[in-house]
Amino acid sequence: MTQKIQAIRGMNDVLPDESARWQYLEQAVRDVLDQYGYQEMRMPLVEQSALFCRSIGEVTDIVEKEMYSWQDRGTDKKAGDLLSLRPEGTASCARAVIEHGLAFNQQQRVWYQGPMFRRERPQKGRYRQFHQVGVEVFGIDGPDVDAELILLSARLWKRLGIEGLRLELNSLGTAESRAAYRQQLVDYFSQHLEQLDEDSKRRLQSNPLRILDSKNPALADVIAAAPSLPDSLDDTSKEHFASLCATLDDAGIEYELNPRLVRGLDYYSRTVFEWKTDQLGAQDAVCSGGRYDGLVEQLGGRATSAIGFAMGMERLLALMPEDRERQQAPQIYLVAAGESAQQYGVITAERLRDEGFRVQANAGGGSFKAQFKRADKSGAAIALVIGHQEAENQTVMIKDLRQHSDQIECSQADLVETLLQRLQP
Ligand code: ATP
Ligand code: MG
Repeated sequence: MTQKIQAIRGMNDVLPDESARWQYLEQAVRDVLDQYGYQEMRMPLVEQSALFCRSIGEVTDIVEKEMYSWQDRGTDKKAGDLLSLRPEGTASCARAVIEHGLAFNQQQRVWYQGPMFRRERPQKGRYRQFHQVGVEVFGIDGPDVDAELILLSARLWKRLGIEGLRLELNSLGTAESRAAYRQQLVDYFSQHLEQLDEDSKRRLQSNPLRILDSKNPALADVIAAAPSLPDSLDDTSKEHFASLCATLDDAGIEYELNPRLVRGLDYYSRTVFEWKTDQLGAQDAVCSGGRYDGLVEQLGGRATSAIGFAMGMERLLALMPEDRERQQAPQIYLVAAGESAQQYGVITAERLRDEGFRVQANAGGGSFKAQFKRADKSGAAIALVIGHQEAENQTVMIKDLRQHSDQIECSQADLVETLLQRLQP
């Protein structure tokens, strides 16, 4: 027997009755970003693996074990490139703005949306193909834009009806103050080697900050007692952070300072933040981001300050209230029996769509009874009924599907006006 082919674990279909919720979320994102003057970008799903190694960092979970990578087919003369499905969007976005000369000496406010791929253990809220909305700003180094990103995300939660998210904030300082802090961490964790797991021991030399990001509960105590980052922050970073906090205070945005918030990736500096929920178990991060002033240069561009965040769409959908969906049912369902009626029906439906109505036409024939069943199921408010007689007279019967009332006959000339009246809420 041949094996049954199914979707890959951790990669999900969005079924017809789920897509309205996705569309609602996507529309809200678009509207809010539009209000702040951000433009959409669309990048390829596949990039050179080297892009992610260089930006996210060689010694991260993502690059070490979660990327879907393969060697492209080469030619006789040259081996194929090593390619990866993108595990996140910031690296691609930075690559694109460098490649097209959009970064240096300019300001860019951009966003993107789409699938990301990570070979993680699938569970609720954690998938192998998941979707992010990412928002990135290039060429603005002031704390005002840090605040803008946070205010923008807060506005989106409100629009989506999502409540109870907590905002955590921290500053990682400049590259220099991070280096000083790094040394403190190496000294500290070296004295507590026996309490570290294998991953953390490996990271002790490559990037000890990531030990703070470990999800291993056995490490919680040793991490809690580690030196704290704010103590070694440089003065400019302190001022930058204080200004951000003051703006958030003025705007009435609540936050918690979390000195252990370091984010898992190599490229962050200064401000980092995360919106968290208590409602999704261990998958508590909804939106994460921060400043990455060094990344563009690290990828071969000219030094450009930058900041951005990404939010997980599946997690947002799980938090959105039930009623947040776009109304998608057709307004009108067209019932037509008999060949001349069907042809006349097609033309009538097209005419109504020209006028902007949402019209679902019965297809595949069937008795009036069967067609009315489908009309009810479609969610339409009104059925237009056409039989042999109506086709002959060039009229239609209008039947209200929501309340009991008699069908009325209507001429083509009066049809649009009558439907507009009847469809008024
Ligand atoms: P987590 O701590 O949950 O692993 P992360 O720090 O790896 O998240 P980022 O790489 O910053 O997450 O991605 C930004 C957002 O994308 C996260 O806040 C989360 O909402 C979402 N996200 C990340 N990984 C997944 C996944 N495997 N499945 C679904 N959503 C995800
Ligand atoms: Mg992760």
